[in-house]
Amino acid sequence: MKCSFVIRDQDKSLSIANYIKKKLKIEEDNTNPDIIIAIGGDGTILKAVHEYPNAVIFGIHTGHLGFFANYDVTEVDYLIDDINNNNFNVDTLDVLKCEFSDKEGNEYIDFAINEVTIMSPLRTMRLSVTVDNEYIERFRGTGFCVSTPYGSTAYNKSLHGSVVDTTIKVMQLTEIAAINSIAYRTLSSPLILSSDRILKFDSINDNDVFITVDHISYDIKDFDKIKITYLKDKVKMAYNTQKSFFNRINRTFLISKE
Ligand code: NAP
Repeated sequence: MKCSFVIRDQDKSLSIANYIKKKLKIEEDNTNPDIIIAIGGDGTILKAVHEYPNAVIFGIHTGHLGFFANYDVTEVDYLIDDINNNNFNVDTLDVLKCEFSDKEGNEYIDFAINEVTIMSPLRTMRLSVTVDNEYIERFRGTGFCVSTPYGSTAYNKSLHGSVVDTTIKVMQLTEIAAINSIAYRTLSSPLILSSDRILKFDSINDNDVFITVDHISYDIKDFDKIKITYLKDKVKMAYNTQKSFFNRINRTFLISKE
């Protein structure tokens, strides 16, 4: 078994990494690691997942308990023992697969653990929205966010989407600044879709857009279409003691003395 590190550029994360490196009994390998130790925040874990999609991720959160990290700073010695003794559990997380293209025929595929957004922040864009090839609406506005249950506490929450229990397998569609008029009418509420649905957005007229896949952004000129589907068990996260989703919600968003 070989490991590598993804570390938030911050003194605390760097010193935890140095401490772990001294005590780990396995080899470091940055090209083909079996496990990744990601130290920082949820953003650090997103980067680790995209850089090493096949590795098992050990997340250490250096702030409040994050949504992906299963170890906090007081549990670093447990993490070292878990790796040295090869004694840990692996949870598998679902992702969104997005396939998109421009009108010149360039095609892209990527996977999101939090969300996929399609946005035109400077000029409004016009899209036709379908689910399973059935027409839903004609949209004009800034864009859409499609999130996983894990991503429901990220950008989706800022868009007033629902926080979704991560044991439910759904994807959530939220609007970003939709124009509602006689010409364009949108649902205007978040839409929760079953994981076996196929969501599609087709460009109406000309749109230059940004497509974001977690922290990664694609600048697409003359956007044509995007298809989003749900893929089960794609990301591997290690844990010793499973942290409760509601404890994470409480410690991240609510003030509690309990
Ligand atoms: P960033 O802009 O540097 O930080 C985004 C923030 O979102 C960080 O505080 C991060 O927590 C938090 N976060 C990430 N995933 C989360 C999750 N699943 N639940 C709750 N909070 C979460 O960007 P980044 O660190 O590269 O992360 C990219 C993510 O930023 C995107 O996937 C998107 O969800 C989010 N984002 C949010 C907005 C918004 O809310 N207006 C706008 C753009 C992007 P840590 O501090 O623990 O890293």
